[in-house]
This record gives sequence, C-alpha cells and structure tokens, in this order.
Amino acid sequence: MSKRKTKKQRVRMQTQEPGERIRNFEEVALGFTEEEALEEASRCLQCKRPRCIQGCPVNVRIPEFILKLREGDINSAKEIILSTNSLPAITGRVCPQENQCQEFCIHPNAISIGALERFVADHGKRPDIKFSKKLQTKIGIIGSGPSGLTCAAELANFGHEVVLYEALHEYGGVLMYGIPEFRMPKQVVNEEVEYVQSLGVRLEKDILIGKTITIDELLNENEFDAVYIASGAGTPNFLKIPGENLKGVYSANEYLTRVNLLKGYKFPEYDTPVSVGEKVAVIGAGNVAMDAARTSLRLGAREVDIIYRRTEGECPARLEEIIHAKEEGVVIGELTSPVEILGDKKGNVIGLKCLRMQLGEKDESGRRRPIPIPNTEFIFPVDTVIIAIGQKPNQLIAQTTPGLESTRRGTLIHQEETGKTTREQVYTGGDVATGAATVILAMEAGRKAAKAIHEMILEKELGKKN
Ligand code: FAD
Ligand code: SF4
Repeated sequence: MSKRKTKKQRVRMQTQEPGERIRNFEEVALGFTEEEALEEASRCLQCKRPRCIQGCPVNVRIPEFILKLREGDINSAKEIILSTNSLPAITGRVCPQENQCQEFCIHPNAISIGALERFVADHGKRPDIKFSKKLQTKIGIIGSGPSGLTCAAELANFGHEVVLYEALHEYGGVLMYGIPEFRMPKQVVNEEVEYVQSLGVRLEKDILIGKTITIDELLNENEFDAVYIASGAGTPNFLKIPGENLKGVYSANEYLTRVNLLKGYKFPEYDTPVSVGEKVAVIGAGNVAMDAARTSLRLGAREVDIIYRRTEGECPARLEEIIHAKEEGVVIGELTSPVEILGDKKGNVIGLKCLRMQLGEKDESGRRRPIPIPNTEFIFPVDTVIIAIGQKPNQLIAQTTPGLESTRRGTLIHQEETGKTTREQVYTGGDVATGAATVILAMEAGRKAAKAIHEMILEKELGKKN
C-alpha cells in the first residue's frame, strides 16, 4: 500500500500498489481511515463565502458536512450531503472533483472534498425513511443508471407509485456495466439500488422500452401519469477508418460490458469472455478509454497504449484516472491519430497505421485543435484495438414514440430546468438528453425532473377539483 502526506499538505488516500493491483480487480483507491478523514477535514478553513460550493454541480453544502465530520457526527454529515446529492458513495468515487469543487477551493492545497464525501458516505448511516402519504399516481422510469435511480427515489419520496424498467439483467446503468469494479465496486451500486427498492420503487429488468412495450402503451394502456426517460448514451461512435471490422477490434463499450456483466472481472473464477491480446491500443483519452486500458492490463495484456490526437494536458479523463493508469504502466501516445487498422490474411488485427499530429488554434471545445503533419505515417504493431471515442443515445425510444423529438446529435429535445420533452407527460434527463456527460449531472437531471413531474401532477389534480 502506498501513502504519502506531509503535515500541511493534503492527506493522500491510500491505494493498492500498482504492481499488485494490475493482478486483481479490487478497488484501487482504498478510502480514508477515520484518522485520515479527521486530519483532512481539519484543514478546511470553513470559509464564510465557500467557493467550493459554487464548483459543485449540485451545490453540496461542503463546509457544513466537513464541520459535522470534524465534530465526529458522521451521520449528520451524511444527511447534509444527501439533502442535495442522493448518491454520495458513487460521486465521492467518480466525480471529476479536480475540475469542480476542488478547483474552486481557495486553500493553496485544495481540500480532498471527494475523498471526504466518500468517507462520510461509506461510514455514515442514511436517515430513516419517512414514507409520504401515498398518491393515486403511477410514474414509469426508463433506465436504472444514476439519473433513473435518482428520479425514481425522489418520486417515491413524494408518494407516487414508481415502476423502473431496465433493458439489461443488472441495475445501475453505466455504474454497473461500464465503470470497472476496480473503480466502482458493484457492491456500492447494489446498495444504492436496494435503497431505491426500499422506498417502494418496483424494479423490472430485461424490459426494452420501445420493443417489449412502448411509451404510448405505458401512458395509454397501463395508465401511467408520466414517464421519465433516462436511457443513457450507450451507442458507441466508430472511427470510420478501414479495418474496423477485423477480429480483435472492440468498441470500449462492448469490451467493458462483457467484462462487467459477464463477470470477466472475476477471472479466473469466471473465465473471461473477452480475449485480450498482448499488445493493446486504446483509441481515445477519456474515462472510458482509461478504464478500457486498465482493464486490459488486468486481463493480461503485456503492453497497453492510449492513442490520442492531442497531448496529455488535454485528456478529458479524470486526473486521478490518468495518474493511476500511468502508474500501472499504460503509455499515453500523444499527438497520434489512427488512419487504418491493419489485418493479416485470417482477418486478425496486426497493426495500426497512424499519423503524427500537431496542435493548432483552439477549437469550439476550448482545446487546441489537432492538425495532421503530412508524410508522418507509421505502423504501430498491435493485436487488439479498443475504440473509445465517445457514445451517443440509442434511437429506439425516439423512433417508437410519436411526438418525441431529437436533436441532430440524437439527444432528446427537452427543457433544461424540468426535463420536459416535446411530448406531453414525457420527461427526460441524463446522457440521453445531454449526450455523454457525468454521473453528477445525470443525477441532478433526475432530481429536477422528479420535482417537475410532481408539480405537473399536483397542478392537474388541482385543475380537476376546480
Ligand atoms: P446510464 O448510466 O447510461 O443508464 C442508462 C440505463 O438505461 C442503462 O442501464 C441502459 O441499459 C438502460 N436503457 C437504455 N435503453 C433502454 C430501453 N430502451 N429500455 C429500458 N432500459 C434502457 N462519469 C463520471 O462522472 N465519472 C467517471 O469517472 C465516469 N466514468 C465513466 C466510465 C465509463 C466506462 C463510462 C461508459 C461512463 C463514465 N462516466 C463517468 C459517465 C457516466 O457514467 C454517465 O454520464 C452516467 O452513467 C449517465 O447516467 P444515465 O442515468 O443518464 O445513463
Ligand atoms: Fe473548506 Fe476549501 Fe470550501 Fe473553503 S473553499 S470551505 S477551505 S473546502
């Protein structure tokens, strides 16, 4: 185990040693001990105008929960966090804190707010459930990712009957089938799902809305009062270069899903259903790419390279993921763009033809645009290629729901504050509405939509009485 700290500096969370952890799928970051949490909490300046709160997409009352933790009252600390963030054990693990609360923290060595949030979530008790008066209304939720789970919990708390439909055989969305066990233990996700169930939400798996049953059928034949679509962005983008159909080419999405849902992470107890080669190239540099690269190492790859058009400074992955990936031996191949995947006569991948890039002016994303350098093609020998260049929403629901309109990017048109779509009684939020984003934003959209749905129903009831 590695651990580094000095008195005035941030208390660093312990991690499994890199050499040890690439041989297992257990969680890499081990969380604070109580002593470490209290020491880190003691560094918070308890600012009168806390800037950290502005950096949090759901405005967690950060200094207040840190103060309760310092006083030894972990349960109250958790209650404070839960008042605006319903999944702290999850966000404490995966939020990009360095670009959010911690970036805004005025301390010269920003407080490890995420690690403290995780400690409180893991060790504090949830307040007892206060069941509201049951209403005679029924809401359908589509998708059991962070957005669907949050919306379902909020609506159940308001007193509605809630039924949540999930296409796959496990609940949790990307938290369960995308993010690997070494970063997001399935047990943590299961506890959140069980909590939502304990609120009275009925969960139904293996139901593909748009095929098994349509939204029209839910609203008209099954008498749902409203539906919340939180079906995520699960369709991978491809490079559209020659060779993408060769054996040994995966989308990161398919690769991680196979490892996660078919229990590849329990190898050798479960024989892995993914064959990974010796030399793996992962194309892309976001969280998904880092997860695929680190998973490949754990499945036995000898060498794993990230192929990225820009430089490490522009990688969209969380800083912690980049650091952990590099510690584990993942190489970040900067300023490189693939132009063709090469195969042998049997159709197996044998290499990647790439072009060197240079950075030009900033583009609309605010990052410097990568520009190809002519005549710099080279061949990189690999036997596995994993493509991780983003995802978009699946169009099944949009295509089977008359009146539900999408943008050109395939996201559902909606009002940001309420999640209201172009179709009466239908709301949306999370990745299907915004495009691939983050857990905290998906969760927040679920909360906002639950409030809007509740208000819409109350208004209707009032209208009936008048
Ligand atoms: P999802 O989590 O995608 O859940 C959607 C659910 O809907 C799925 O379970 C799906 O099976 C179900 N569904 C889809 N269609 C239907 C249908 N027709 N009928 C019924 N059910 C359906 N974010 C971070 O903040 N930090 C990270 O470190 C991070 N790492 C990531 C790593 C990976 C590998 C991936 C893929 C994403 C990562 N993200 C991360 C992004 C984050 O996970 C997503 O933004 C978030 O999960 C979106 O939540 P959601 O509820 O909108 O959708
Ligand atoms: Fe504490 Fe930093 Fe927030 Fe100030 S800005 S209250 S030091 S966490």
